Amino acid sequence: MKAITVEPMKSGSARFEDVPEPDPREGSVLVEALAVGVCGTDVEIAEGKYGWSPPGATRLVLGHESLGRVVDPGPSGGLRKGDLVVGIVRRPDPVPCPNCAVGEWDMCRNGQYTERGIKQIHGFMSERWRIEPEYAIKLDPSLGLLGVLLEPTTVIAKALEQVAMIGRRSFWEPRTVLVTGAGPIGLLAALAARTYGLEVHVLDRVESGPKPDLVRALGATYHSGSVKEIGFEPDAIVECTGVGQVIADSIQAIGASGIVCLTGVGHGGTVTAAACADVAASAVLKNNVIVGSVNANKRHWYKAGNLLARADRTWLRRLITRCVKPEDFGQALERKPEDIKVVIQFSEA
Ligand SMILES: [Zn+2]
Repeated sequence: MKAITVEPMKSGSARFEDVPEPDPREGSVLVEALAVGVCGTDVEIAEGKYGWSPPGATRLVLGHESLGRVVDPGPSGGLRKGDLVVGIVRRPDPVPCPNCAVGEWDMCRNGQYTERGIKQIHGFMSERWRIEPEYAIKLDPSLGLLGVLLEPTTVIAKALEQVAMIGRRSFWEPRTVLVTGAGPIGLLAALAARTYGLEVHVLDRVESGPKPDLVRALGATYHSGSVKEIGFEPDAIVECTGVGQVIADSIQAIGASGIVCLTGVGHGGTVTAAACADVAASAVLKNNVIVGSVNANKRHWYKAGNLLARADRTWLRRLITRCVKPEDFGQALERKPEDIKVVIQFSEA
């Protein structure tokens, strides 16, 4: 079968090539790939900046935002031939740490977790893949290709759950949410927050194109410019840019007893000693919580599946701005300013 593979930490090593059929040790459920979403992590792996191949192998099958159709459910009782499924990305560490031991692998304490298509397990950019039945999430069949949005939605399901759980430390009835960054994660955060009935504001650099329209179509307010100019103090901020200045401004702009949830991974930016103390003083005086959130456990995958199943299909479809054939994977790894979610399509959904 064909797969998109890469030699981790070696730039320009990605290729579409013949590989053996998936190893039965990767799971008893055999799945035909329909589509795989591309995100910044895939681009970083292809650029040789990140990623680990499986033990004993030099190459890694790329891809972690999966969507497939069950070809053979194996002995599993919960799946049938033809079901649409998405594979959970992370696996618990083998020690395991206390969090992995209770199924909260998203909160792994020792960093020895593995991840499909990223860290030591082959990903989903192959014509067929296998998965353990307990790590296959069955989708509402009416989602079709839109099921490829499940993995990024899990990131938001976890982040918003974190915010809600922290909010319970005091009397807190959030009304306004600011989402910084209108990429796939930010737009899905806005969708989720609107579903929960909140007043949603989304901030991004761009002033035109699909992003402002997509935000307004949710009944949310779009802002371009800086966080300092939004004109109100949000009850919660979901930060999805990873940009130093946006993070610093968010921490200053959050309302009293508000929560800033950081989901973006960036680098660089400077915080002087004085500015750092200002940021801390602001957090102290307003009882703010600044929380980081990454990955998702099975509960979040389930919640994300429900969120997508309830969402407007026309709106979700507009998030997928390009579909690329697997042999043209190089085009999918190029980031164009007008892209929201780029998908590599292996087969008709
Ligand atoms: Zn662990």
